Amino acid sequence: MQILRKTELKAYKKAKKIGQKGVIEILSKKGLVGRGGAAFPTARKWQFAIDTKSDTKYVICNADEGEPGTFKDHLVLEKVPENVIEGIIIAAETIAAKQAYIYLRGEYEYLKPKIQKAISSVLKRSGSKVKIDIVVGAGAYVCGDETAIIKSIEGYRGQAYLKPPFPPVEGLWGKPTVINNVGTLANVPQAILFDDWDPHLRLFSLSGDVTKPGIYEFPMGVSLKKLIELGKPKNPVKAVYFGCFGGCMPYKEILLTPENVCGQNCVIGAGTIIVVDNTHSIVDMAETIAKFYAFESCGKCTPCREGSKRCLDLIAKIQSGKATKQDCDTLLDLALHIHETSLCGLGQTATNHLITALKYFREEFEQKCKLH
Ligand code: SF4
Repeated sequence: MQILRKTELKAYKKAKKIGQKGVIEILSKKGLVGRGGAAFPTARKWQFAIDTKSDTKYVICNADEGEPGTFKDHLVLEKVPENVIEGIIIAAETIAAKQAYIYLRGEYEYLKPKIQKAISSVLKRSGSKVKIDIVVGAGAYVCGDETAIIKSIEGYRGQAYLKPPFPPVEGLWGKPTVINNVGTLANVPQAILFDDWDPHLRLFSLSGDVTKPGIYEFPMGVSLKKLIELGKPKNPVKAVYFGCFGGCMPYKEILLTPENVCGQNCVIGAGTIIVVDNTHSIVDMAETIAKFYAFESCGKCTPCREGSKRCLDLIAKIQSGKATKQDCDTLLDLALHIHETSLCGLGQTATNHLITALKYFREEFEQKCKLH
């Protein structure tokens, strides 16, 4: 796997030599974009922080990988934590930040000693004066949102807030803050160092009804069929979910690009593929995912807090056989409403799975309804 190639601080040395301007130029030219899902150009994000005048700046490594079915950052942190730390010190020195934080998913706490060891080793060998602390999250899914991470590190309840201002301009404690995902930061030294670094390579987390789940590295545009066949499904595949937030589509051949997936009314996000075969019910999937969102809603805004529970009530009614087809329409209306009116990314994407399931697999919901 290309992502697991070690960079051994050679990229850091090169970054020191070419300086701030050189680093921004190289990352921009090589086309490094965020690996957390939004695919924002990394050099541009760093440039915003450079352009904002402040005596204090921060870097945050988002290691709060909480999306169900997503486990690619875990692999990177486990196998090449030094590359991530090297990416962090390059980011910090490029934007002139003296302090960086790694916001680690609560469930990954057992990785903390390994990451701590990598921090000590990299700082000692590089001579960098950047201070890096690990903050372990308490297990809230919403803290994958960058504004919720900021609140959590500041010591408040992890809840999202409206942007702008964006973190590179006004972030942690009101100071310019660059927040990058683990995969992005691991790619920074690779992009700087290797001439054959491929900007299109991505890690896909494959799980669900496959006998060989795991992380597969392919360029964007890989065939969905090829990827799923590598996972060796036991039964005919019925549907594919792009994580819980990215929606679902009937299984068919498409090339996995953000545009193609968007054309199926889904979001490719962080490359999460959950396979569902013909032995599983889409209504059961809807219930499981809706329970997750009702539990994870932070409660700050009404559409997500109340709506996610009402979705669950309606699905339970459909499961009980007491619902009518009108209830399916109500569920869709509610799902669209939550999608359009929620405050943060969690609520805005919480019902994608319902909107797409009711578009593509409505008959499975209606089969459970009363005939009148
Ligand atoms: S959308 Fe949900 S998670 Fe986000 S602020 Fe509103 S209640 Fe909280």
